[in-house]
Amino acid sequence: LGFEDINLSEEILKAVYDMGFEEMSPIQSKAIPKILEGVDIIGQAQTGTGKTAAFGIPIIEKTDEEDRCLQSLVLCPTRELSIQVAEEIRRLAKYKKNIFVLPIYGGQPIERQIKALKKGIQIVVGTPGRIIDHIRRKTLKLGNIKMLILDEADEMFDMGFRDDIELIINQVPEERQTIFFSATMPKEIVDFATRYQNNPEIIRV
Ligand code: AMP
Repeated sequence: LGFEDINLSEEILKAVYDMGFEEMSPIQSKAIPKILEGVDIIGQAQTGTGKTAAFGIPIIEKTDEEDRCLQSLVLCPTRELSIQVAEEIRRLAKYKKNIFVLPIYGGQPIERQIKALKKGIQIVVGTPGRIIDHIRRKTLKLGNIKMLILDEADEMFDMGFRDDIELIINQVPEERQTIFFSATMPKEIVDFATRYQNNPEIIRV
């Protein structure tokens, strides 16, 4: 399936062709239409399958460009992944001039992040610990979030982020779309999904 076979904006199509993408990868052709429809999914996919664009494209399409509040939050296990995911989303949003993406992670001076957040960021990609730090400082407001994404959920659980993730999820409005991506599907992830997602659909590639 090509990117032009599903209902994507001209700006996204131009960006994916600029990035050299021709066809959608299997996870993309299964996940993008479902996420656009508003379905909660668990995508079982490894790194290298195109999973970032699988959630990045729908996030961009669902962003209200007129509104500068935080609309989507992507949780990642590491600083490196947060940077990588934020950069891929920025590349995909290249032709959407009013979409602002920011990676947020520990180890970087928090003042710099606070200054950047004040400009009005719609999509934050970050690690759980630093996100909680911003929530406590009230420099990150989760009250308008429409989409919550857990990237590499199994990895985050293995690293001991479970309690942090629960704390964050409990501050995001219940009326939201919740997307999990995980390379493996241990019982802990399935149980967690059952608790926090709404009729999740599992997509395997
Ligand atoms: P990911 O699995 O998200 O880490 O993506 C792995 C790499 O594949 C990244 O460099 C992407 O930019 C690239 N990529 C993602 N989707 C496609 C696609 N449909 N065609 C070609 N490359 C892609």
